[in-house]
Amino acid sequence: MRRCLHCQTGFTSAAWQCPHCGFAPPLREGRRVFAPELAESDEAYPEEAHWRFQELQDNSFWFRARNDLIQGLAERYFASARAFLEIGCSTGYVLSALKQALPRARVCGSEIYSAALAVAAERVGETADLFQMDARHIPFTAEFDLIAACDVLEHIADDRAVLQEMHRALAPGGGLLLTVPQHPWLWSWADELACHQRRYRSGELEEKCRQAGFSIVFTSSFVTSLLPLILLRRFLARKRDMDGLWKEHALPSWANGILFRCLDWERRRIVSGGRFPWGGSRVVIARKNDSVQL
Ligand SMILES: [Zn+2]
Repeated sequence: MRRCLHCQTGFTSAAWQCPHCGFAPPLREGRRVFAPELAESDEAYPEEAHWRFQELQDNSFWFRARNDLIQGLAERYFASARAFLEIGCSTGYVLSALKQALPRARVCGSEIYSAALAVAAERVGETADLFQMDARHIPFTAEFDLIAACDVLEHIADDRAVLQEMHRALAPGGGLLLTVPQHPWLWSWADELACHQRRYRSGELEEKCRQAGFSIVFTSSFVTSLLPLILLRRFLARKRDMDGLWKEHALPSWANGILFRCLDWERRRIVSGGRFPWGGSRVVIARKNDSVQL
């Protein structure tokens, strides 16, 4: 069901105009804009960065391995999903993996920066419903069987509010697929450059999910085998600028291949139910408790 962000009325019509107050979110380049005041790219995410991300993602060990993991978990836990939303879909890279994992489901992707949606549209095609949105105000109620947010919540100061909004936007029996950076002791210049609000403590995301009305189905660390490398970067690397961050994603192919194989081994373990206690990332699958009304 759609939800008017102006008067909170729920409605099921095909058009976005609210039948109660008449409000309709504006259209820009064919896509709905629900939070126009936040839609422009800023200094941390200039418009060209979205296109640059798109170029490096296909070859980066990190983006490839994370996509394989997300695809595997979506197939295992959400195979019957009829509609899903990815929040913070950026250039559409994760959205393409979810689309492959759930080929019969309706595909929706949201992003705060309008410029990224143009890149996403090119990647996933016009079959996906892409819109600009602030995750703290989701214009749906009981609509999706799966909501994914992959390395998104750490950017948002009020992550609890986002989890509550996700709870309302999920259909009965629906669930979450979340990934976040983990362990505050790994905090580095890269987190600052990416404008992270936090790296999650062990158990922190699970606790916040429970408080928002979810049950934890599965939780594990990821990027465990690369912890020594992450620690080296944390203690040895001098503060770098955005160019330094780009270089980390453009490794020689032999190094990229080795790192990918390490993460691919972890991915196989996790998708078959294995868990790792520590790691640079945390992945959580949670189900909506239908009895909880927030
Ligand atoms: Zn309204």
